[in-house]
Amino acid sequence: MTEIPEDHPRYESLLTRHRIEEGVEKGITSKQGLIAQGRGEAFDYLLGERTTESAAEAERAAAAKLLLADHAVLSVNGNVAALVPGETVELAEAVGADIEVNLFNRTEARMQAIADHLHEHGAADVKGLAADALIPGIDHERAKVDEDGIYDADVVVVPLEDGDRAEALAEMGKTELVIDLNPMSRSAQTATIPIVDNVIRAVPNMTEYARELQNTSREELEAIVAEFDREEALEAAERAIRQGDLD
Ligand code: ATP
Repeated sequence: MTEIPEDHPRYESLLTRHRIEEGVEKGITSKQGLIAQGRGEAFDYLLGERTTESAAEAERAAAAKLLLADHAVLSVNGNVAALVPGETVELAEAVGADIEVNLFNRTEARMQAIADHLHEHGAADVKGLAADALIPGIDHERAKVDEDGIYDADVVVVPLEDGDRAEALAEMGKTELVIDLNPMSRSAQTATIPIVDNVIRAVPNMTEYARELQNTSREELEAIVAEFDREEALEAAERAIRQGDLD
């Protein structure tokens, strides 16, 4: 990978681009993933490429919800695998969640490449390859999940999920923690906890909060989740994007 000096003003953004490019070269990220990346970058630029106060609150509430879950699953697509493979494994370990590969354009080769990539980054078990259950209400290929993974989960973290599937998972009664830089996307609008932040900041932040909250009582964790106001978080994110101060 080309060296980018860390003091470059757009260091993080350039690093992200390189990781996505590498992801495409390795067969992990799809070409559509490149387009998704472009959309995300535009929103991130308007947010000032930082975690806003309200996103940090959402990340803390999400960490609390993950610690309270009976069966949490972190869904991983081609962009997430390219951008935050090791960080996803760390979050899964911190909250005791499963990791499941879930693709919009599912091909067995890409599923396997992502599972291998996650194993290389320390994942012990990666779900998604069995594909022995279907999410009701969406077309067959995109509906495939593991019966002992997302199908069974009560809490699912869905970064960069497409709107249809986010809606279908919500219909199944799942608590969805959505990481998406666009607060107006259907996924963010569907989420129990919308996290409007770049996945490269959101995932490590959630791990940090989860570690901080590890010995917190269930009552306190429940209070943190209850205090979180999803409407207010979505409004705050949209305000930050529309009125962003870019200096
Ligand atoms: P929806 O159907 O939910 O309205 P969409 O079809 O508009 O979504 P896609 O283009 O399929 O969305 O998915 C890309 C989404 O992921 C965009 O909303 C984009 O802002 C977001 N995104 C892209 N890169 C990142 C990133 N690194 N971190 C967080 N979100 C990202």
